[in-house]
Amino acid sequence: MVSPHPDDEVLAAGGLIHSWAAAGYPVTIVSVTDGEAAFPAWQGLDLVRREELKGALRKLCLTHVSVMRLGLPDGKVAEHANRLRNALLTLLTPRLTVLAPYEHDGHPDHESTGRVCCDLAHSHGVTVARYPVWAWHHTDPSGLHGRRGGRFMLSFEARRAKARAVQCFVSQLQPPRAKPIVPPHVLSYFERPYETFLL
Ligand SMILES: [Zn+2]
Repeated sequence: MVSPHPDDEVLAAGGLIHSWAAAGYPVTIVSVTDGEAAFPAWQGLDLVRREELKGALRKLCLTHVSVMRLGLPDGKVAEHANRLRNALLTLLTPRLTVLAPYEHDGHPDHESTGRVCCDLAHSHGVTVARYPVWAWHHTDPSGLHGRRGGRFMLSFEARRAKARAVQCFVSQLQPPRAKPIVPPHVLSYFERPYETFLL
C-alpha cells in the first residue's frame, strides 16, 4: 500500500488492509510524505501526523503492519520521484499486489505517486489496483463507477476497525482553529460499506 500522506491508506483501503492482515498476509505501508504541508504554519505537524498513523494502525490491525516511511517533502513528490521509485524497487516481489493512488486523483502528490507505482508495476509485471481519494470529491464520481475495477465489501469487523482508525487523524478531521482538511462530506465517501479500486 503506497500512501502519499498519513490518512490516505486508512481512508481509501483501511478495510482491505484490516482484512488482509487478519488473514495473515504481510502488509507494508509505504508512507511517502509526513503530510506537513496540510497546515504550513503548524510546527511539528509532521511528527503529529506520524503519530496519528501509528495510532490508526494499532486500531486497524491486531497484527503487525510494516511501515516504510520515506519522508519526502509534502507537495513535492514529483521532484523526488526517483527516491520513491528506488524505495519501491526494494519491495517488489512477483506475487505482490500494489495499492496505489489513482493517477488522476486531483492532488499532485497522489497523481505523481500513482504514476510511479503504475509504471513500476507494469514494467515488472506486478498487479496494481488504484484507489481514489480526492477524485470522489473533485470529479464526477459517476465517472469512477464506469472505470474497470471493483468494490471490496467490508466485513462488520473491518468496517468497525476502519471507523476507529479514521478517528485517529485528528489533525485532518478537527484541526485547532482551522477548517478540516477532511470535512464530514468528504469523510462520508470513506464510511461506505465497501472500498473501490480501479484496475
Ligand atoms: Zn493525500
